[in-house]
Amino acid sequence: MISIKNLLKNNSCIVLFLTQYRIQGDIFMLSTGEKPGKGVYTCTKCGQKVILDDNSDTLPPCPKCEATNYTP
Ligand SMILES: [Zn+2]
Repeated sequence: MISIKNLLKNNSCIVLFLTQYRIQGDIFMLSTGEKPGKGVYTCTKCGQKVILDDNSDTLPPCPKCEATNYTP
């Protein structure tokens, strides 16, 4: 049984989730020249993965599309 009250409750959860997701996306957005440490970073434009194997490595421009934004 779905009541309007439950529906609103569920929708507000979805909105909250989307808001948190967007905020996290901003926080974890990395740019060329940053040193995020070892790991695999994904180009936000084309999805190309860049692997950094040293903590002193800087993120290069995307080797595929030359975009400068990555997500971990
Ligand atoms: Zn790219």
